[in-house]
Amino acid sequence: MEVQQVLHMNGGVGDTSYANNSLVQRNIISKGMPMLEDAILDLYCTSFPEKLSIADLGCSSGPNTLFVISHIIDTIKKKCHQLNIPLPEFQMFLNDLPGNDFNNLFSYLPDFYEKLKEEKHVSLEQCFVAGVAGSFHGRLFPNKSLHFIHSANSLHWLSQVPQGLQNEMGISLNKGKIYIGKTSPPSLFKAYLAQFQRDFYLFLKSRSEEVIGGGRMVLTLVTGRSSDPSIKECFFHWELLAQTLNDMVSQDKVDSFNLPFYAPSIQELEAIVNREGSFSLDRHEVIEIVNFTSGQNVAKFIRAATESMLADQFGAAIMDDLFRRYEHNVDVYLSNEKAIIINLVLSMTRKE
Ligand code: SAH
Repeated sequence: MEVQQVLHMNGGVGDTSYANNSLVQRNIISKGMPMLEDAILDLYCTSFPEKLSIADLGCSSGPNTLFVISHIIDTIKKKCHQLNIPLPEFQMFLNDLPGNDFNNLFSYLPDFYEKLKEEKHVSLEQCFVAGVAGSFHGRLFPNKSLHFIHSANSLHWLSQVPQGLQNEMGISLNKGKIYIGKTSPPSLFKAYLAQFQRDFYLFLKSRSEEVIGGGRMVLTLVTGRSSDPSIKECFFHWELLAQTLNDMVSQDKVDSFNLPFYAPSIQELEAIVNREGSFSLDRHEVIEIVNFTSGQNVAKFIRAATESMLADQFGAAIMDDLFRRYEHNVDVYLSNEKAIIINLVLSMTRKE
């Protein structure tokens, strides 16, 4: 699977779209807001730039990215009001892979600008929004052109499925599974971690060129560790998806499908940040989301994010049936187990 060509959240505004099924992500973003506010205010109040260039990386096609940039504007606006100084100009870049439904995202803009004007009294000459199509694992912006970077719910996606997921005989190390599970061999962990290390290193290296000295970055991504011992499986949603697929398609097809996803620990992230060396990791926080109340809730959230890849491997024709069965399997699971998703928010500064 060519991840960068296949991976995209479900576009449009239909029943299975990301736009209509991204409340879990919105919830995660909201919980990380205090760290985002602190970082943007620290940045702004250090030099009071007249123009702020800000990028949201992995913006997708739904309204969450506009929720973020509108919150950033609010935060700065309050500060300017307090200090009685004029509002800076904002250049906002929304980035995602080229397959993202940018048309849908752009269709929210007239309403967004209208609200800025009517409710926040920010004129159209003060906020400029642009789309940037490309991979955040490489360069996206000119040298030293950004003050602030935000990325939520995106950096756990890898640039490719890790290599080395078969043994020398070509047999899958991940039989019957689509991600790392409790019974996976250590070589599988190693292959996934190595891919994440490469990807996140390239992400940092690219951003280190683009962000000015003293510029800030706030990143939110899934992590795989819970401090709650009653949580049996942080990736219950992937386990159950594999189980459902096993009931429907041939073993070969499941064995040869592995998610381009990795949920790093804070230690793994810290090690990469230190090795790359351009950013200091100022703070991090763990966010636990425990609001999976029904199979339908989980099925919609997972479908909006993974359908493009699953349809590529298993065919679009089985998607409705797959997610109906998945919903049922999740309901059964939730009747016995607590389901949670754990995220990390990281706040970093580009060293001078
Ligand atoms: N930030 C939004 C959307 C998160 S969905 C929110 O929190 O709601 C994750 C997004 O990351 C998807 O739209 C996916 O296409 C994007 N993504 C994954 N890998 C990427 C890459 N290498 N470069 C840019 N975007 C990427």
